[in-house]
Amino acid sequence: IPRNPSPTLRNPEEWCRSFNYFISQCLIKDFEARPSVTHLLEHPFIKQAQGKDVALQQQLAALILEQQEAGCKTKTKSSLNLPLTESLDVVPALFTPECETIISHLQKRYDELQVYTYVGDILIALNPFQNLSIYSPQFSKLYHGMKRADNPPHIFATADAAYRGMVTFCKDQCIIISGESGAGKTESAHLIVQHLTFLGKANNRTLREKILQVNPLVEAFGNACTAINDNSSRFGKYLEMKFTPTGAVIGAKISEYLLEKSRVIKQATGEKNFHIFYYIYAGLYHQDKLKTYSLPDRTPPRYIDSQHRTVMQDIVSSKLYKEQFDAIQEGFRNIGFTEEEVNSVYRILSAILNTGNIEFASITTQHQTDKSEVPNAEALETAASLLSIGPEELQEALTSQCVVTRGETIIRTNTVDKAADVRDAMSKALYGRLFSWIVNRINSLLHAAESGMNVGILDIFGFENFKKNSFEQLCINIANEQIQFYFNQHIFALEQMEYQSEGVDASLVEYEDNRPILDMFLQKPMGLLSLMDEESRFPQATDQTLVDKFEDNLRCKYFWIPKRVELCFGIQHYAGKVMYNVNGFLEKNRDTLPADIVVVLRTSENKLLQQLFSSPLTKTGRLRQLSMKNIEMKTIVDTMEMMRHPEETTSMRRQTVASYFRYSLMDLLSKMVVGQPHFVRCIKPNDDRQALRFCKERVMVQLRYTGILETVNIRRQGYSHRITFEEFVNRYYYLAFRAHQMPETSRENAVAILQRAKLEGWVLGTTKVFLRYYHVEQLNLLLREVI
Ligand code: ADP
Ligand code: MG
Repeated sequence: IPRNPSPTLRNPEEWCRSFNYFISQCLIKDFEARPSVTHLLEHPFIKQAQGKDVALQQQLAALILEQQEAGCKTKTKSSLNLPLTESLDVVPALFTPECETIISHLQKRYDELQVYTYVGDILIALNPFQNLSIYSPQFSKLYHGMKRADNPPHIFATADAAYRGMVTFCKDQCIIISGESGAGKTESAHLIVQHLTFLGKANNRTLREKILQVNPLVEAFGNACTAINDNSSRFGKYLEMKFTPTGAVIGAKISEYLLEKSRVIKQATGEKNFHIFYYIYAGLYHQDKLKTYSLPDRTPPRYIDSQHRTVMQDIVSSKLYKEQFDAIQEGFRNIGFTEEEVNSVYRILSAILNTGNIEFASITTQHQTDKSEVPNAEALETAASLLSIGPEELQEALTSQCVVTRGETIIRTNTVDKAADVRDAMSKALYGRLFSWIVNRINSLLHAAESGMNVGILDIFGFENFKKNSFEQLCINIANEQIQFYFNQHIFALEQMEYQSEGVDASLVEYEDNRPILDMFLQKPMGLLSLMDEESRFPQATDQTLVDKFEDNLRCKYFWIPKRVELCFGIQHYAGKVMYNVNGFLEKNRDTLPADIVVVLRTSENKLLQQLFSSPLTKTGRLRQLSMKNIEMKTIVDTMEMMRHPEETTSMRRQTVASYFRYSLMDLLSKMVVGQPHFVRCIKPNDDRQALRFCKERVMVQLRYTGILETVNIRRQGYSHRITFEEFVNRYYYLAFRAHQMPETSRENAVAILQRAKLEGWVLGTTKVFLRYYHVEQLNLLLREVI
């Protein structure tokens, strides 16, 4: 793209008009010839025109979409460097005055390593990407019981406010941490737990230590190294810390959401399996126990490294992995797992790795052509022995399936591909159930059932938008949509309540309500999730019939099917547009584990394994009864009602991932709505994990889709400053009275001051003056002149 399409066009408006034409031409031509959007966004004229020229914005948006779609369809290297939402969201948000102010403020603070900032009641946390010396017990002391204004903003202050809220008002609290991957959510959650354990000291020191070990233990199993974050959480977590009414910590409870089980069997290039697999290798190697657990020690198992790039020596000799393993052992022991249980955990992990090494080859007999057998019996026998089941039975369950038709049981053989799928499904199920078991066991060891008051900490994956988005992204983004809804309701309701209690017109408080999108996902029976479940029940359904079903039934502006791209649909999320690729949706939603596998695993002599497969693993049960005190909660509960599944007690075999997910989400919300929320928005200042590097555009995008800009906008459009008459008169009486007069701090005197200052557009509440953001600046200027 030329810096300026025509040198004769000197002014931005004229340039944009010709530019629009230029882009529309590009859209018609082939993909490769189109200009890169990043490039466009950096153009000085575009920068000037943004926010003003609607046509240009639409063109840019169309261009981005086109490029995205083309990127899905062909394998051509996309010239689009930014993920889709970012570009789309950058366009309208760029260079608005609000945005500039906040960003330069954040940047200035970040340059001075002040990573925390309050925007209204929300704590913004910029990832420092370096260790800061502000988290020692001295700092915990510093923030203990202090007012917010007494100290610089800090994550401890948020934890402290939650704790104080709980003790003072006898009310559960919840801290909602959000942000994209690598923004610092998990670190923030740790710091909050650290401060809360400090506050809830009590006499039970061991319990405090146990609680501090919960996170590292669960994260060894649920976190992994990804392209973005070396310690990326691959599950959502809600940790509730339980306290006595006087604030002594008595227990903890974790709930986990949507573990990315598929990582066990396959990882994207450059990414790794869950940490624990590497830890056990290094740890058990040092204890000379690789043989005890039959861990293959010549080449890394296929699940750990399908591309044969890793050398076994690198894993077993890693000092870091070994240290982590020791910490995990210590954690298991301290929290109270028995030695037998821990051994069983290692055996199951090793069984999973050996299972992954089982291969299949097709054998052709006279009668059957698509039968498969296991050529490497060793892997099969080792896996079976670790699982304490018979190798023949395991082989049978992997290579064939029992089908009951018209009362008759027929044995069908599996093709090589099918057998490999069954093998991988078994590994995923083993790992998923093991993970849930560990979490439940921790809960029972940490007295989760004990009553008391709670501070809950939600650390859940942020909004995701990759080049290719699948079922997992859809679930994650729906969860985020729901949390955003909760955020909106809360911020909005608080603001509105203050207006109403002061008798001021509340219609100024407007915000983008994402309820219609949530409805589209969650409504029954015609919401997207319900439609998907319905389609998943048809054995003949294909991904194409699913897309058709969506197209026929979802009529709303937040959903569309792009032309020219197969098996795709687009959603306008609160955080931007996302294109989903439906490939594999049904299979992922069904997440079937053949009954034959369950039957075999149930015969195991291993107690833990029996437990894992003895009962269907469902999230069922009664949700807590909620007492609705205000409209805000009512709306949230409405959406929860909408999600309630008619078959809440269905067995695992029939329960789809979507319905399980729907239930989890409802369960999470039911916990959140009873508490007083506190919001922490984590922001990643750059994509290179560099300390002190502040990338304005990246920060802006995140501010936008975490709702911070909207929050600021609400404050700006409405009355951002609400000052009691008393405080107002005390502060500004110089403007209308003589210094020695000491006027009465009354409503009338406040009005006198406002009139004398010649301000317009303010209103009076019953106890407060409501001012716009610029009023305060004006008043302060005047004050400076007078004094
Ligand atoms: P998320 O959970 O949002 O994906 P993490 O909490 O795992 O992100 O943070 C990613 C990385 O950023 C951490 O491994 C750590 O290196 C760094 N980091 C995040 N927060 C802090 C902090 N407060 N101080 C120092 N480093 C941090
Ligand atoms: Mg995390």
